[in-house]
Amino acid sequence: MMNTSLDILSLPKQQEQLAHAYIFEGIDINKRLSNMLGLAKSLLCQMQSTHTKSEVGNYCGQCHSCNLFDADTHPDFMLVNEERGTIGIDDVRKTSEFLSKMSHLSGNQVIVLEHAENMTENASNALLKTLEEPTNKSFIFLLCKSKAVLLPTILSRCQFLQIKNKTKEQLKAIYPDLADYIIGFSNNSESELQSWVEEETLEEFTEVYQLFIQWLKNQVPNFILINKVVTKPLMSSFLFYLIEKRIRQLMLKSATTGNSANAMAASRLLTDFNHSVILIKGQNKSLAMSEFLNSIELLVR
Ligand SMILES: [Zn+2]
Repeated sequence: MMNTSLDILSLPKQQEQLAHAYIFEGIDINKRLSNMLGLAKSLLCQMQSTHTKSEVGNYCGQCHSCNLFDADTHPDFMLVNEERGTIGIDDVRKTSEFLSKMSHLSGNQVIVLEHAENMTENASNALLKTLEEPTNKSFIFLLCKSKAVLLPTILSRCQFLQIKNKTKEQLKAIYPDLADYIIGFSNNSESELQSWVEEETLEEFTEVYQLFIQWLKNQVPNFILINKVVTKPLMSSFLFYLIEKRIRQLMLKSATTGNSANAMAASRLLTDFNHSVILIKGQNKSLAMSEFLNSIELLVR
């Protein structure tokens, strides 16, 4: 038996302890997908399934199933990977059709839905049905940067998994010059930080951060902040990370003052915006961002 070392926090040790559906969070796309492929391979391995207590992460690397998996032709494995487009209702229907058929190798069936945040609302609702009717040998994994953008009804039917990362202190020791907000935005992902250092993205983070602070002080109009980030998905998510962080800060503060109405309202607006913004493209995006900033500016300043 071989073992994929999976960097997944609090993953059950035994296959029989696994739930039917998981949301797997991780900002590092490569790392979360490679972990999930390792897990899927292990769940499908035929040698594994002959063990009564099969250990999660183990696979033989020699059986028919392992060979099919390595050749990307496993009939009981389905990967939905829409990085740029949206995941529509047809994509979700394909997954339920897939699960409604018997497994080809009479073992487990595994679906990995990468970029789950790109699901349309209709697709999410269609997926609910699949999540509500678990078959006993099927596993569904929804991969996303942050579960915050998924519908609450989806969240309530899934368990959560996270990538295991170094602590903030360990990362600070490796990258002493990095600001806390950059480490925080990476979700403590070392490979993400590494790529930002290599791509010289750090300066841009600092610029957005400084603009955001000025915006909070009402020294910079909305459109300057928006123009800085709107065409750059990474910088847009960074800005929204800063906004979310600010709201959390206000929530904590309000715990002592007792007046949390503004922070709560801002938090609700942010959740709504996150749900609607994935469908907004092009020019309309900066319009939507501008409306959003207008609606929260007085609440978070
Ligand atoms: Zn195998």
